[in-house]
Amino acid sequence: MASSSFSTAVAHLSRVSTAHTSLPSHHNLFQSQCRPFFLSRSSHSLRKGFTLPRGRKAPSPAVHASFTDLSTNVSLEDKQLAKGETWSVHKFGGTCVGTSQRIQNVAEIVVKDDSERKLVVVSAMSKVTDMMYDLIHKAQSRDESYISSLDAVLEKHSATAHDILDGDNLASFLSKLHHDISNLKAMLRAIYIAGHATESFTDFVVGHGELWSAQMLSLVIRKNGIDCNWMDTRDVLIVNPTSTNQVDPDYLESERRLEKWYSLNPCKVIIATGFIASTHKNIPTTLKRDGSDFSAAIMGALFRARQVTIWTDVDGVYSADPRKVSEAVILKTLSYQEAWEMSYFGANVLHPRTIIPVMRYGIPIMIRNIFNLSAPGTKICHPSVNDHEDMQNLQNYVKGFATIDNLALVNVEGTGMAGVPGTASAIFGAVKDVGANVIMISQASSEHSVCFAVPEKEVKAVADALQSRFRQALDNGRLSQVAVIPNCSILAAVGQKMASTPGVSASLFNALAKANINVRAIAQGCSEYNITVVVKREDCIKALRAVHSRFYLSRTTIAMGIIGPGLIGSTLLDQLRDQASTLKEEFNIDLRVMGILGSKSMLLSEAGIDLTRWRELRGERGEVADLERFVQHVHGNHFIPNTALVDCTADTGVAGYYYDWLRKGIHVVTPNKKANSGPLDQYLRLRALQRQSYTHYFYEATVGAGLPIVSTLRGLLETGDRILQIEGIFSGTLSYIFNNFKDGRAFSEVVAEAKEAGYTEPDPRDDLSGTDVARKVIILARESGLKLELSNIPVGSLVPEPLRGCASAQEFMQELPKFDQEFTKKQEDAENAGEVLRYVGVVDVTNKKGVVELRRYKKDHPFAQLSGSDNIIAFTTRRYQDQPLIVRGPGAGAQVTAGGIFSDILRLASYLGAPS
Ligand code: ADP
Ligand code: ASP
Ligand code: MG
Repeated sequence: MASSSFSTAVAHLSRVSTAHTSLPSHHNLFQSQCRPFFLSRSSHSLRKGFTLPRGRKAPSPAVHASFTDLSTNVSLEDKQLAKGETWSVHKFGGTCVGTSQRIQNVAEIVVKDDSERKLVVVSAMSKVTDMMYDLIHKAQSRDESYISSLDAVLEKHSATAHDILDGDNLASFLSKLHHDISNLKAMLRAIYIAGHATESFTDFVVGHGELWSAQMLSLVIRKNGIDCNWMDTRDVLIVNPTSTNQVDPDYLESERRLEKWYSLNPCKVIIATGFIASTHKNIPTTLKRDGSDFSAAIMGALFRARQVTIWTDVDGVYSADPRKVSEAVILKTLSYQEAWEMSYFGANVLHPRTIIPVMRYGIPIMIRNIFNLSAPGTKICHPSVNDHEDMQNLQNYVKGFATIDNLALVNVEGTGMAGVPGTASAIFGAVKDVGANVIMISQASSEHSVCFAVPEKEVKAVADALQSRFRQALDNGRLSQVAVIPNCSILAAVGQKMASTPGVSASLFNALAKANINVRAIAQGCSEYNITVVVKREDCIKALRAVHSRFYLSRTTIAMGIIGPGLIGSTLLDQLRDQASTLKEEFNIDLRVMGILGSKSMLLSEAGIDLTRWRELRGERGEVADLERFVQHVHGNHFIPNTALVDCTADTGVAGYYYDWLRKGIHVVTPNKKANSGPLDQYLRLRALQRQSYTHYFYEATVGAGLPIVSTLRGLLETGDRILQIEGIFSGTLSYIFNNFKDGRAFSEVVAEAKEAGYTEPDPRDDLSGTDVARKVIILARESGLKLELSNIPVGSLVPEPLRGCASAQEFMQELPKFDQEFTKKQEDAENAGEVLRYVGVVDVTNKKGVVELRRYKKDHPFAQLSGSDNIIAFTTRRYQDQPLIVRGPGAGAQVTAGGIFSDILRLASYLGAPS
């Protein structure tokens, strides 16, 4: 290892030192393409390439560095390129080599890859290609600041080199860099003077970013003792320009040159420049913007590599651009066609031309995140047999969505087009003549109109060309119009065979309709890999989110608004926080709190509030409370399929909105008793609406907190049982008081103790009055089918008549001992009869009555056995006649009440289709 690395190091050093005195071998650049420009200057500069700044020596044309054969120690066998599986290709995008630290990181990944042979394609450091284009732009606009911009380019690379290189490596790289910069300066000066840059000049300039990053990376890898050479791909990759501003690789010639290059530079690790190439005449060119992916794919094909790994800054190909759709998910696999369609329609994670070269040899592409090595990435390959078996789910048909902005639609319309051969060719001929790129075409089969999308910046020329081409047809009415619809975007859904699968397009258009998005044009390729729709530009993101969530969000994703973050509401939020991820992972239930509304302020979020921080966020980002806006926000997002409002207040006003909400399709979950115990007609209207619609209204926590009381009652009724009576201790407070009012204790003392322990309302009269119990009775009575008003329920209040008018709770508590004797008497009378006092609510279904009162029960009755603040409810029914069905347990407290609400939310999710 040591000796070979020594010899290669020597070889390398010599190569670099040759390089810095040489001009690229692409001297034809200056001879052919630039002739018109230089002719007017001087014939000398024409021959030499360009005029150098004063004081600089013109470099002599020389063989390019990486062509120099100095590895004389290498055997003939080693010099022959052994193509095939031993090679793996890696491509590192601009962000991967964006800083010195990152270049080092890339070097580490390359070193660690255990493939026998590696070819690494690198982009320019991030932003550098933009900077290089900017230089050209400035110089040809005669803007002097190109000089300082060039200094910035020099500074960026020089600083990076200082960070990662040292000694001779650093010196030789810097000398090469300075040399390149001074050439560029001269060239830009010439462009500045001419006020124009030819395409090949531009391509020559902008490709420098890759030259520098590749050299720096190879020097860093060499420092690790690795047998590594850098490749200027302009020496190997030969392409033919096409009429469409693209280039096509010439594989045969490139292979020939590669073999030659390899025989001169045999090694196990090659660091190659992305993006750049040459024409047959050795004129530098590029594979156009973002072309390094394409470079890597071509290299993969030339080497017949085992795999091409494209390293970037995201975990793989997402189902939609993650910057636009926060819910986007990583796709584990994509077929070549799917990847092509995704990239063609704007998923810039992959250059669209990357697919063809590798597909030819079935070489898989991996997309990996350099910043997250633990993510497995996306594999692009031929679909496996298993993929077909997996086609039960719509999601497998629709892999992803992509969008293209800044388009205009052109609509050529008229009755004279029908059945006239050649109309389409005349239209697109005219479009081709102005060099515009048609992105999609749609023609109604009636042939009355042909409509197509072109980039917005090209539409004027297209429209003018069509107007003039069809002047006569327009004048004599065969064509009615050539209309331009500006500000459009394309949204494409991509997936294997999606277009031929029933239901996929229906779901797609349904999602768009639900989001109130108008579709301007539709195209579906016969390839069946994509469905393309044109929408207004301002609708594009909304459309993307709507369709994405239709296919990717769980059906039981619920956008929730929590109203009333008091004790119960905030306990619920904390319970949601603790349970959300389990629900999502295990039951596919995705609960998103989109808003929290308090009495004064509200907190809104677009994608869901981070419940670990909801209290702080309320403080930081709270807005003035506004119920209407709140509801609109929670319900108005078009990408979450369901909305639920959770009313944790005890407010009659809020309860008054349930009807409107349900009518809008918003589900309601609440522990608030006001709606169900309010005026009967309103209650009946609400329930009627709920029954007609598929909108749900759950209120288990209105009675007995988390105890299953309403659901038990419903279960009995729905299975055909007949309720005879419901009797129960519905108040935790009153349960506590009477369970402890014994052994000679005074009533007022027990009340004071309950108050102290926090069992009562701040004013214990609110409990003792019995109205809260009456509300529960009315709720159960109505649930059992009785049409009663609250006023029909006689309530035996425990608040002594004279104390009802006390101004304060304190005064009431002070006065209460005066009435102890009355209570003691009742208690002793009961005791003497072997009974206890219990404060109960009763729904007498048989006699269609309800009552709330203090009753006496035998000591062996279940109600007499109660302890603490438990609730107990006995259902006497036709089936449970001899022995009532009893539900017993804690029926008050924030935790159990919030738990009751939570289980209603989950009930809602299961009604919406969550797995059990
Ligand atoms: P590189 O410089 O590594 O070539 P690019 O910026 O060209 O990186 O491509 C990666 C970017 O593509 C990501 O940062 C992401 O924002 C964007 N992108 C757009 N659509 C998608 C998609 N569907 N999946 C993944 N990334 C996407
Ligand atoms: N550096 C080139 C560009 O920014 C090529 C690439 O990174 O893919 O377009
Ligand atoms: Mg890219």
